[in-house]
Amino acid sequence: MSSVISLLIITLIILYVIRPYLQKKAGVAEIGGAEGNGRIVDLRETRDNLLSAIKDIEFDYEMGKLSPEDFSEIKTQYRDKAIEVLKEIEMQEGGNSKTRQSSMEGVCEVCKNPRKKGDRFCRHCGNQFNASKRIKP
Ligand SMILES: [Zn+2]
Repeated sequence: MSSVISLLIITLIILYVIRPYLQKKAGVAEIGGAEGNGRIVDLRETRDNLLSAIKDIEFDYEMGKLSPEDFSEIKTQYRDKAIEVLKEIEMQEGGNSKTRQSSMEGVCEVCKNPRKKGDRFCRHCGNQFNASKRIKP
């Protein structure tokens, strides 16, 4: 009986966590991705919520508040949702990376990875940038 109640509570938490994501999904479909950056922020928030929710139920399980069946079912739901959100974040970031690169410091000539402001060496391949303009005191 108590596991039914905890399942109900968890379901409510899931709904609460994914609600902004679902609302946003409906809204953005009309706009057509015009607010890409705001969307990524929302997605990241949803991802963080999901990840902390997973930690919460892991804790509940360790405390004996959840049965193994409930735990694995709920965790799978969270994880699937988190994977979905992560994929969407990747898609959004991939679509925006071109515009972001031009507003940043460009890309490494060797490995083509984006380089960040103030970097003197590539974080990916170690290539030294000709940053003569930036090294000066
Ligand atoms: Zn590189």
